[in-house]
Amino acid sequence: MADFPTSTCVVIIGGGAVGASALYHLALAGWTDAVLLEKNELTAGSTWHAAGNVPTFSSSWSIMNMQRYSAELYRGLGQAVDYPMNYHVTGSVRLGHSRERLQEFRRVRGMGRYQGMDLEVLGPEEIRSVYPFLETTGLSGALYDPYDGDIDPAQLTQALAKGARSLGARIERFCPATGVRREAGEWVVETPKGEIRCEKVVNAAGYYAREVGKWFGRDIPMMVMSHQYMLFDAIPELAAWSAEAGHKLPLLRDVDSSYYLRQEKQGFNLGPYERNCRAHWITPDDPFPEDFSFQLFPDDLDRLEWHIADAMARVPLLEKANLTKVINGPIPYTPDGNPLIGPMPGVPDAYEACVFTFGICQAGGAGKVLAEWVTEGRTEWDMWSCDPRRFTGFEDRDYCIAKGMEVYGHEYAIHFPHHSWPEGRGRKLSPVHDRMAGLGAQFGAYNGWERALWYARPGDDTSEAGTQTWDREGPWFGAVKAECEAVRDAAGLLDLPGFSRFRVTGPGVGDWLALQITGKVPKVGRLGLGYFADEAGRIVTEMSMARMADDEVLLITAATAQAHDREWLLGSLPEGLRLEDETDDWSCQILTGPASRAILAGVTGADLARPWLSWQEAEIAGLPVLLLRVSFAGELGWEIHSRFEDTREVVEAVLAAGAGHGLKPFGMFALNSLRIEKGYRAWKGDLSTDYTVLQGGLERFIDFTKPAFRGRAALLAENQAAPKRHFVSLIVAAGEADPPYMSTLWHGGAVVGETTSGYWGHRAGACVALGMVRADLADPGTALEVEIFGERFPAVVQPDQAAWDPANARIRA
Ligand SMILES: Cc1cc2nc3c(=O)[nH]c(=O)nc-3n(C[C@H](O)[C@H](O)[C@H](O)COP(=O)(O)OP(=O)(O)OC[C@H]3O[C@@H](n4cnc5c(N)ncnc54)[C@H](O)[C@@H]3O)c2cc1C
Repeated sequence: MADFPTSTCVVIIGGGAVGASALYHLALAGWTDAVLLEKNELTAGSTWHAAGNVPTFSSSWSIMNMQRYSAELYRGLGQAVDYPMNYHVTGSVRLGHSRERLQEFRRVRGMGRYQGMDLEVLGPEEIRSVYPFLETTGLSGALYDPYDGDIDPAQLTQALAKGARSLGARIERFCPATGVRREAGEWVVETPKGEIRCEKVVNAAGYYAREVGKWFGRDIPMMVMSHQYMLFDAIPELAAWSAEAGHKLPLLRDVDSSYYLRQEKQGFNLGPYERNCRAHWITPDDPFPEDFSFQLFPDDLDRLEWHIADAMARVPLLEKANLTKVINGPIPYTPDGNPLIGPMPGVPDAYEACVFTFGICQAGGAGKVLAEWVTEGRTEWDMWSCDPRRFTGFEDRDYCIAKGMEVYGHEYAIHFPHHSWPEGRGRKLSPVHDRMAGLGAQFGAYNGWERALWYARPGDDTSEAGTQTWDREGPWFGAVKAECEAVRDAAGLLDLPGFSRFRVTGPGVGDWLALQITGKVPKVGRLGLGYFADEAGRIVTEMSMARMADDEVLLITAATAQAHDREWLLGSLPEGLRLEDETDDWSCQILTGPASRAILAGVTGADLARPWLSWQEAEIAGLPVLLLRVSFAGELGWEIHSRFEDTREVVEAVLAAGAGHGLKPFGMFALNSLRIEKGYRAWKGDLSTDYTVLQGGLERFIDFTKPAFRGRAALLAENQAAPKRHFVSLIVAAGEADPPYMSTLWHGGAVVGETTSGYWGHRAGACVALGMVRADLADPGTALEVEIFGERFPAVVQPDQAAWDPANARIRA
């Protein structure tokens, strides 16, 4: 024990592929004073039995980035650390059975090519040229990914560990962390071999992460599934083909049938994600084990019969083989299936890199991201998809189990833009939820809050199946158009529960806020939009600011940003200022449209002549409300904020007053259409740390005359050098679908940028996209093309003003 480390910079708890990669990347970044603790031998958790597939495919830009990085890292890792390992880059064939699946493939091909990967979409007749043993009946095509492959997960982990050790980092095997405590601004990690003091600690404990999280007072949103793959013995034809071809077959994924089939030596490995799946360690008779190192669950083949038969019909060669072995191991899931990588919410100097469902193919990228969080406090790529703060605490055990099973059972499903997943719903209801449901509301969940997406009219198709399309015009389209027109011509009411809101009070609150935002702090009585940048000038978040008094400001932000923004604000809050999270105390409606003033006049004595971007306290139906003269829909309008318990009466009064004025309820789809026409950005699409405030076209929200604010130096330097990219609004002559996030922008045969959102503008009568383009192509009138599901459509850069009401005359009316 003499040389047991008693103090270090970073302790990582958990020695699977992810923990080892985190250690390696910390060491690469120069943080070699780091110790990894593993309770058993390295890989003892999920890593040792993983199949080791290393896909790059993802429909999420950030996850694709992470997986692409992993594949690149693994290709050179053996040599870099002098640890040769089995990594077969076989390529993969992902089969599609429908037009929608092929659209997904084309979209991913566009993203992949933008990331430098030469993905290809194959027609049904071409697939056999790369995968000869395939029956192609019923197929619409395939995606060919030449970078896909498989790696030995244990060798990968050992290679990362060797690389980390040779740079000076330490690994303590058979050394469980048994607890942590905070002492004098440091962490003390307890182990049977002694205590280690450290500045920072990382929970990389895989499926044990929830147990480790408890020591930090953290209830990690996760559950554990059983996942199986089956190994088959050698097939002479396959062996002969491989010998002649000189390589293995590409990995086959039949995503619509939900399995992968991989050549394993001279046989096959078949791994399904079944709908009738099984969670583990969720009932009293199946408690979470103290230790499950190197253990498996018993085989459970009944669940997989359908997939085995389907795979045999697709690749008849498989019928000739005998099943030799089944691996059934634990695999952890968060409620959305993405891992947790980043700062541990609410806990200083603690981080998470855990709950990985695809931890082998993501370990490389995850190590890089985690190391950036630890060493720099920010990441190169926007990693909101994996940020622990995307969960806000309402995700109880039942929710985690229901969502985890849903994600597992639909692991390969297409994520359509108008579809809402049905599990874990109804968690947080607006005070007028039933009333809105009665008006036809079709709901979607935002940080657990149920909000109307659209209002179905009698006869509209409200089935889940009706949303399984990439097309613009689904069953909601006519209703959304009518909602937008009501907002344009009369008035609309959007019930918007769950806005995150923070009241910050205390002397000097204005000065503090001025240091946090790039622009001006509003005067008392006024509203403003504040952009919060990081030190690099990148967009961290956006909040509405209502200056309530000299020493009081109310900050209102996206529902999903609740934990993220609270943490961001608390991170810089000095002693003497107080922040209260009032999210659950209030609810909100947007009343907007030319008739909104007349409607409000019928229910309140408030001064409705007060200008745009002002606020006032008022009464509706004798109940106190806060009226904010602002509208994300870009029409005359007010946000009506009322106490949660008063909201029902307030809404009834407004609805009654609106009856004679053509007031209609509208939903989030209509809001998306209305806001995009105004060029209003949405958080974590148009606004992310992938862009600086300047690139985001938000110059008017930067006040360089302020002597100091976070990000000032970086933004000033960028401003002097002129930004290389610039935000644009585009009118797109699109086909049947609007451009999704990260559709590439083309000019002169080259990719010059990307869209960050796209939707049909019902008032403009056109498809509008927001995006980022090379700065020299951002001039109004520039003709570009947008690649939408593989096809390019003409697009024209718009003047730096909204497609609807560019002078803001309607909003100021
Ligand atoms: C059958 C199956 C097949 C799979 N196939 C693939 C695949 O093909 N591709 C892919 O990408 N993913 C695959 N996965 C998922 C993959 O196995 C996991 O995502 C990955 O192994 C997670 O790695 P990790 O490092 O996060 O966690 P783990 O490997 O579980 O490592 C966590 C480590 O923490 C240690 N630990 C826990 N508590 C403590 C403590 N208190 N003190 C010290 N140490 C502690 C554990 O012993 C363990 O070694 C598969 C999973 C299963 C079940």
